Amino acid sequence: MTDEFTTDVHYDDDVDESYIEDRTVAVLGYGSQGHAQAQNLDDSGVDVVVGLRNSSSSRAAAEEDGLRVATPASAAAEADIIVMLVPDTVQPAVYDAIEDGLDAGDTLQFAHGFNIHYGQIEPSEDVDVTMVAPKSPGHLVRRTYERGEGTPGLIAVEQDATGDARQEALAYAKAVGCTRAGVIETTFQEEVETDLFGEQAVLCGGVTEMVKVGFETLVDAGYSPEMAYFECLNELKLIVDLMYEGGHMEMWNSVSDTAEYGGLTRGEEVIDREGMETILEAVQNGEFAREWIAENQANRPAYKQYRGAEQDHEIERVGARLRELFAWDEAADKHEAPADD
Ligand code: NAD
Ligand code: MG
Repeated sequence: MTDEFTTDVHYDDDVDESYIEDRTVAVLGYGSQGHAQAQNLDDSGVDVVVGLRNSSSSRAAAEEDGLRVATPASAAAEADIIVMLVPDTVQPAVYDAIEDGLDAGDTLQFAHGFNIHYGQIEPSEDVDVTMVAPKSPGHLVRRTYERGEGTPGLIAVEQDATGDARQEALAYAKAVGCTRAGVIETTFQEEVETDLFGEQAVLCGGVTEMVKVGFETLVDAGYSPEMAYFECLNELKLIVDLMYEGGHMEMWNSVSDTAEYGGLTRGEEVIDREGMETILEAVQNGEFAREWIAENQANRPAYKQYRGAEQDHEIERVGARLRELFAWDEAADKHEAPADD
């Protein structure tokens, strides 16, 4: 094991801002990432135009925030750096609408590599294709920037037609605040495959399934759903907060020795290592991507079914009742929040 980072971390001082100074940036979309990145760029003195459809309900918000708004096609035509911050599933259609505005030497930039890595968008060879991905939801990208801080981020270069792609991505990362916290370099392939694996096996899929099956195991054995909810879902946050603050050791140090011994000896039994490897393979060989693309083309029949079952699960009803009991707690938290939040 090494105590060094396995990769270089870039900070503000490593960046040559001239790579973005005289360029116009089109931010397509004004959702979580779009609103944050567009405003941070604007505050950093970068020329920004937000690309939104005439019918978009986000238009008013962008204009209220003092930003210039145009259609995606005209924003892209005018801009040198075109940033895809619409949902991943609609990016191929938006790309068709803006493709003519991608001139030789322009940059097409992403915050997630799905559509490039799985060939859903195939830009011509004379444009740069890059990624600047804050590792944080948009509201924190904005809030930390306003406080003079930033969120960590990734950069990647898929296609370097100009020879400047990497420097420009770093300059963009600085303008949205990421190099204040640290930026590491990756590839589209690594970002996509680790991201999909993480959300399926561990974060979104793994954790919810573990909570649900834990809850069902207790309820099926005759314990009360309320007790099962507290044990399997509510307390999860306390454990994850400790892991986030100080890693697994901080968590083990904070729980009882009984919990530590029981956890260390029994945890392995609930994890299916082969299942995890199967998930990773389906990400790597494109099977998952093909399934999800076909699912979207068919108007999401399986997605709707899974979502319905999740909504109807007993843990949702018990949770809704029990969370009412905590309402006073959240109200108190809000009163204590700093004014700039
Ligand atoms: P979002 O869903 O919050 O916002 C998308 C915005 O796109 C909408 O607000 C709207 O302005 C616009 N839009 C929606 N449908 C459209 C359509 N049919 N045509 C044109 N515009 C449309 O999206 P997001 O979460 O900010 O994600 C944007 C990109 O950033 C994605 O590639 C995502 O993977 C990536 N990303 C997101 C996060 C995050 O925390 N949300 C973090 C890192 C990377
Ligand atoms: Mg252009």
